[in-house]
This record gives sequence, C-alpha cells and structure tokens, in this order.
Amino acid sequence: MVSRVIPVDPFDLVIFGGTGDLARRKILPGLYRRFLAGQMPEDARIIAAARSDMDDAGYRAMIGEAIAEFVAKSKQDKSAIKKFLERLSYVAIDATGEGGWDALKAATRKDVTQAFYFSVAPSLFGPLAERLHEKGIACETCRIVVEKPFGRDLASAKALNATLAQHFHEGQIYRIDHYLGKETVQNLMAVRFGNMLFEPLWNAQYVDHIQITVAETVGVGGRGSYYDKSGAMRDMVQNHLMQLLCLIAMEPPSQFDPDAVRDEKLKVIRALDPVEPDEFVRGQYEGDKDGQSYKADAEDAQSLTESFIALRLHISNWRWKGTPFYLRTGKRLKARASEIAVIFKDPPHSIFGPQEARRGNILAIKLQPNEGMTLRVTIKEPGPGGMRLVEVPLDMSFADALGPDGSDIPDAYERLIMDVIRGNQTLFMRGDEVEAAWAWTDPVIAGWEERGERPYPYEPGSTGPEEAQILMHRDGRRWREVKE
Ligand code: NAD
Repeated sequence: MVSRVIPVDPFDLVIFGGTGDLARRKILPGLYRRFLAGQMPEDARIIAAARSDMDDAGYRAMIGEAIAEFVAKSKQDKSAIKKFLERLSYVAIDATGEGGWDALKAATRKDVTQAFYFSVAPSLFGPLAERLHEKGIACETCRIVVEKPFGRDLASAKALNATLAQHFHEGQIYRIDHYLGKETVQNLMAVRFGNMLFEPLWNAQYVDHIQITVAETVGVGGRGSYYDKSGAMRDMVQNHLMQLLCLIAMEPPSQFDPDAVRDEKLKVIRALDPVEPDEFVRGQYEGDKDGQSYKADAEDAQSLTESFIALRLHISNWRWKGTPFYLRTGKRLKARASEIAVIFKDPPHSIFGPQEARRGNILAIKLQPNEGMTLRVTIKEPGPGGMRLVEVPLDMSFADALGPDGSDIPDAYERLIMDVIRGNQTLFMRGDEVEAAWAWTDPVIAGWEERGERPYPYEPGSTGPEEAQILMHRDGRRWREVKE
C-alpha cells in the first residue's frame, strides 16, 4: 500500500532549542522524513533558534549528523538530505534576554503559516511567549508548540496556561503528547468509531477489564536528578497513560473535530474516581549485577520517588461502572513494549462442554516497538478430531501494510508537527484537559507523600514489584505478558 501524502501550505517553523536533544533526535529527523515523502512545499523554511553561537553552516552540519544517526539507513538519500539541509537556518538567541530577536524577526515571514516550537525547558515558555509579542514576531494566526512536562501539579499547570494565555489564545497552543501521534492510537478511533462491530460491546456489560502498559527497559540514566523530582506518576501517568485511557473510554464524539474529541476526553478524566491507597503500587528499581540502582541514578540515597507505578482506576459513568482499568508503567523493566488490551468477558455458557470452556476475546493494541492490533478469537481447531477449540489472533499489523519494515509509518513527532502546520488540534491536549488530569493526580501523590510511603523495590529486568501482581491477583486477574 502506498501512503498518500498531501503537501502542506508553505510555512516558517521556528524551533527554539533547535540544538537540543529532542530537536536532534526527533524533530529534525522527522521533518527530514516528511521532506523526503514530498510533504514539504518548496517554500517551507525551518529556523532553529538556540543559545549556542553557531552559523547556518554549523547548524546544517549538526543536523546532517543527526540524520545520519537517527534516520533509518533506507531513508538516507544523499541528495535529499542536501536539499533538506538547505531549508535550515540558525539564529543564536537568548530566550530571557535581548540578543538575536531582531535577526529572528528578519528571518520570519508574515505571509505564510508560522509555528514556533518551544523545545526548551518549561521555565522559558513564558519569556519566549512574551518576547515573540514584544518584538512583533508573533501574529494572530501563528501557532506555538509546547513540550512536556506541562506543569508538575495543578497549580503550576494553571500558572503555565495563564502565562501562555496572556499572549496566545487556546486555538494557537499545541501541547504535544507524542503518544497521540502514533498510528495505532489514531487507528483505535478508526476501529472504535468506523465499525459497527466493537462499539456495542465497548462497555461494562461486555468488557471485563482494560490494561494499559507502557514498559521501558532503560533507567533514568543521565536524567536522574530531573526525573527524581517527577517520578512515574507525573512523568508518564498524568499525561501519556491518561490520554490513552481517554481515547479508550470516551463516548463517540459527534464528529472528528478537535473540540468534539477533546470535550469527550475531558469528560472521562472528570468521571475518574479518586484512587484509594490500596489501588496503586509504587516501585523503585534496586541494584542489579552492575550494582546500578535507581537511588544511584538519581544521586539520592534516600529517594522515595517511584520509577514504576501500577494503578487500578474506575470511571463513574453509565458505560464503565464496574469495569476496572489497570495502568502500569516503569523503567528498567523486562521488555520495551507498550500496549492497550481490552479484555472481553467470557462467553456466559460453553455449549462445547466444560473442557472447552473458552476465555474471552482480547483486543490488543500495540504501540511499540511494532504498532498494530490483534484480536483474539476462538475457532475450531482445523482438521479432524472432533470439535476442539483453539484461540487464534486476527492480526492487523501496520508494518505489512506500510512498507516492508514499517519504515513508512510516520513517526509520532513528524505527524504531529504536520498537524500543527495544517492547524489541526485534534491530537493535542487542551488546557482544561491538562488541568483536569492534574486535579485527579495531585491528591494521589499528596496522599502517599503525607503517609511517607516507600516504593517497593524491584529487580531491573523484571516486570516490576511483586505487589503489582498482587494488585491484580486480588481481583482474580493477571497482567498480560507484554513482549518486544
Ligand atoms: P536540551 O537540554 O537537550 O536542549 C535545550 C535547548 O534549549 C538547547 O538547544 C539550548 O540551546 C536551548 N536553550 C537553553 N536555554 C536557552 C536560552 N536561555 N535561550 C535560548 N535557548 C536556550 O533539552 P531537550 O532534551 O531537547 O528538551 C527540550 C524540551 O523538550 C524540554 O522541555 C524537555 O522536557 C522536553 N522533552 C524532551 C524529550 C527528550 O527526549 N529529550 C522528550 C519529551 C519532552
């Protein structure tokens, strides 16, 4: 299948923090892939703005190296890379000072789509927004893209929203959650709302429970001191897992339109019950054969921050009353794998006798490493031997449909950046969604802090602390094994 590429309008994309890790690893390689796919018009320009003293040639060389490192070899086309790099320019700028702003103004055009990507620390969002206005660079229709973390609690998220709102209206603000840019996540909406098959069953009457797992094999590494102020709940659950939960649980929006979708997501967050102390398990990886432990990575021998969390959530509405949602995420786990699994109830009666009692259907939506969906169904075991049943997966792997190695699937970042240029906010978080998620998260964190709870230790390379298994076993359920 050849993917259909619709070129976007001419644009100026200014990347503040254009020399940073995120820009080099994700943003620029993603833009190159869109260029290679023919989505970038002749008149598109990318202007990097960062603190380092550098000229255009220096920046192009830096990004040439980033493309060599972070783009699949099969996509590295020498002449395309050369042409792409010619689109790039660099302005040395001080977000909190005066230097570089006149040069940036001169480099941007008012008659094309303008987007400003804030790929810098959140403390710089305010100064950047302010200066873009003060210096007469931002216009009424331009867009800003902001990265996580969007606050560390409700108060700071509100303050950040208020700061941005002084200079930009909500329709101009694109809060990125790259999980929403994944092919499968969008496909989840297509599967739910484009078929008659699933939606009638998508409720507490037919769904036993739902599991969302985002497992990483890496530890916090060099980001230890930053991560230690955050932890798995703030870093992963409040944003990524919450967004996935919303898409799974929301009512059908009246149309596939940014506000209609986000209104429905918001209702889910607002319907979440408070989490009781016995409904979550926090973990921290502790020492392995190299002696590396979370506390060593975080450089704090007393740290109580969790590198793993598992939770049981309930949504109090007609659709989901009685169906638990189990979420878990952690670092230094056995596999790097993320999936959402909808576990349907068992058939009420087995006509094939007790020995053939079947387990329910499972729809597994895999987010990484390979995106795709499988639906477990029960069929008759082929061939002679009577009526014996087997469970088989109906596989909907996108890799087969989109290029032999799946390399034609646009990366989440490149898809989302193109949505910014198109002016489509559907896959971006609205300010009230972010605040509602923090309003739900804050009391859970405050609770364990007040109680001085210590995270349970777990071995690197495991599936997390034993207590996370018990959380499930208590309900007569078990975590699915997620594989790479
Ligand atoms: P980084 O430290 O690697 O890069 C920071 C960038 O900001 C550099 O280009 C630097 O020159 C620029 N900068 C710093 N101070 C400046 C100033 N006063 N004026 C102008 N420019 C200044 O950071 P990063 O890892 O690229 O992260 C950028 C943002 O993206 C952060 O908010 C981070 O939380 C978020 N984020 C990063 C990742 C990731 O994988 N790196 C993932 C998700 C979110």
